[in-house]
Amino acid sequence: MRILVRNDYSPPRREGREDIEKARNSDFEEEDLSLLNDSTILLIKRALEHPDRLAIIDNRGHHIYRKLLGAANKVASQLLKDRHDLNETRVAFMAPPGFEYPAVLWGPWLAGGIAVPLCISHPLPEIEYVLADSEAEILVAHPEFEDRLRPLAGRMGIRLLLSPEIFQGAGKPMPEIDENRRAMILYTSGTTSKPKGAVTTHKNITSQITSLIEAWEWSADDHVLHVLPLHHTHGIINVLSCALWAGAVCEILPKFDADRVWERFIHSDLTLFMAVPTIYVKLIAAWEDATTEMRESMSKACSKLRLMVSGSAALPASVFEKWQEISGQTLLERYGMTEIGMALSNPLHGERRPGFVGGPLPGVEARLVDESDNEITEEDKPGGIQVKGANVFLEYWRKPDATRNAFRDGWFCTGDEAVVENGYFRILGRSSVDIIKTGGYKVSALEIEEVLLTHPEINECAVVGVADAEWGERVCTAVTTKGNSLLSIDDLRKWAKERMASYKIPSRLMVLNDLPRNVMGKVTKTEIKELFAIQAE
Ligand code: AMP
Repeated sequence: MRILVRNDYSPPRREGREDIEKARNSDFEEEDLSLLNDSTILLIKRALEHPDRLAIIDNRGHHIYRKLLGAANKVASQLLKDRHDLNETRVAFMAPPGFEYPAVLWGPWLAGGIAVPLCISHPLPEIEYVLADSEAEILVAHPEFEDRLRPLAGRMGIRLLLSPEIFQGAGKPMPEIDENRRAMILYTSGTTSKPKGAVTTHKNITSQITSLIEAWEWSADDHVLHVLPLHHTHGIINVLSCALWAGAVCEILPKFDADRVWERFIHSDLTLFMAVPTIYVKLIAAWEDATTEMRESMSKACSKLRLMVSGSAALPASVFEKWQEISGQTLLERYGMTEIGMALSNPLHGERRPGFVGGPLPGVEARLVDESDNEITEEDKPGGIQVKGANVFLEYWRKPDATRNAFRDGWFCTGDEAVVENGYFRILGRSSVDIIKTGGYKVSALEIEEVLLTHPEINECAVVGVADAEWGERVCTAVTTKGNSLLSIDDLRKWAKERMASYKIPSRLMVLNDLPRNVMGKVTKTEIKELFAIQAE
């Protein structure tokens, strides 16, 4: 039987009034929030309406909104020092998942700065790139990262502040912040080029949050489990910021761990869960490893939640169906990206169609265009996705050309292709890596992957186009296999002939132990292409 409660983690018990009282009776009971009364930041204004509600649960305890607001005011005051307004100074920060994260994030927002969240697991050269590119003037770090970051900050002339110190001292009045001010820079995954800093304003962030609050009916009664990285829009906006906007509880795990998640499904009063497809795959594997008795209680626990969401990468129909079978939950798949927050979503009420991402979210316009940017109005005709709305980011930081190239007549060109079928968008993939041009045909890697995943010996797969003198690009696939499979390309092609057009069938196969993925769990296809190129040499 799997051990669902580990010794190195003391999970919070069911959140009763007792726990909330304990949090309320903390050092922050007398916290003076009057300095924040004039704040123009809507997220702060909302939190001020319910200071004694529980905001965050982490492995150190329970934290109410009053404590979060008080800590954020102190962070902002320390950042300001003698200044009245940070005037868009970039404040990079590296905070572990937990209470400290939103307290530090809200600091630069309150003080008029731009928050630049750093990924805790990125190697130092990538951190250095983000600090240099964003021209960060201040770096806030938790002491567990001090050894790594102090020499870097010293070398780059960046003021380093440590997080326990930054929660001390007196608060100050905060400047008035216009909603069109820059608020945050998130670095894109950079699968095709060096990461670019996507700048969002306060208004963009508010629109991204309120769209999801409305679509998924977030309320103060919600309790979400947070297991996602906190340098990415999925974790920062969809989970953390939506929860805090709603006055809900956000329970943050130090990192994703399938057993811990199942344990929290069983023992916490969760209402919401949001994750990427690979997380659902891992949760399914943990369920399959459990005893019959345990499986029953795991499945029963899931049925208590009101909504489970998947996004950030295509959710294979097989995962959608398996999750439905074991949890009774029909996953809601949505589509979005760093530059726009979320754009398309299956409905909360109504049909959630496997393999589709639904339609535009509240306040968001989405359309498909052909290669000349003419709108496609017919169904079933593939095109590029363009998005418009207050959710769409302002610019790529210090990259006016890249910003200009990303927009056409006020529409943001996502770089993704899709088709609309019966009113629902189906994502075909990124035009740069997932749309393969082979022998005069344009094929979607995601469509081929969906079929390959139904092969009994294939566990995971990633289809890529590899440059080829004869075909333009050749369809190639990297896979991980189940058990002791000895899958060969000939077997695979024979099997695939019954299931897809011949030009879509992969002509090269690479069996790997694991597919290369980034910290969001997305397969890094450029690496797979490189592996095929090396193999061909
Ligand atoms: P990021 O900016 O890192 O969030 O990556 C955004 C990209 O992830 C999009 O441009 C899509 O290519 C992909 N993506 C996000 N959600 C989905 C989805 N539900 N299905 C397929 N691809 C998705």
